[in-house]
Amino acid sequence: MTQLLYQTDSYLKEFDANVTSMLQVERTIVLDRTAFYPGGGGQPCDVGFLTVTGVIYPVEKVKKQGADILHLLGGNEPMPAIGAAAHGTLDWARRYKLMRTHTALHVLCGTVFRDYGALVTGGDMEPLKGRMDFEFETMRGELVREIEAAVNKEVAEARDIRVKILPREEAFQIPDLIRTKINLLPEGITQVRTVEIVGLDLQADGGTHVGNTNEVGTIRVVDYKSKGAINKRIYIEIE
Ligand SMILES: [Zn+2]
Repeated sequence: MTQLLYQTDSYLKEFDANVTSMLQVERTIVLDRTAFYPGGGGQPCDVGFLTVTGVIYPVEKVKKQGADILHLLGGNEPMPAIGAAAHGTLDWARRYKLMRTHTALHVLCGTVFRDYGALVTGGDMEPLKGRMDFEFETMRGELVREIEAAVNKEVAEARDIRVKILPREEAFQIPDLIRTKINLLPEGITQVRTVEIVGLDLQADGGTHVGNTNEVGTIRVVDYKSKGAINKRIYIEIE
């Protein structure tokens, strides 16, 4: 089981850990703790480096498998031994862009829900670019400009982002979480992590976010598209 350091400190760029298991052929290792985000909720996984006994391994891919986080190591150096001490270093420039982008998308969905009552049906992101699908019947250029102005106003409000890990029962008492389909969480999940943009948006979310909306930057709505009768896709970029 890997302790998920990124869940409580999204600004952790480096960390120490120990190798708990290793697969030679697949070139994957599991650590007892990690700051590498394994991907999920539309946010791609982190990449970076792991230094183990003097060898620097590129971390090319990270993914979740049950309670473990698998780190796929590039290069062709022999794999590290189980029990070895490891030092992880994230590609921080990339991760920080993803944090700004992820928070921007929450600002977008919080604003669109508040102003138009439209629910999100999906989303995806890469560094400084993202898209989100909403239950909107019509989308016009005028409305898009209105949404762009409203999201940038929220960013400028310098709203704090608060992350909490709550017992399932407590999270289920929060009415705002219902719209993010918290009720669909598998029964085995005993804790729910929530990400709140204070005064704007509250969601059950596993991703990494900036600490205040003033770190996001300027959000541009660069395109929109109809994805069916009630689904409209909005594309954003962050400057
Ligand atoms: Zn999210």
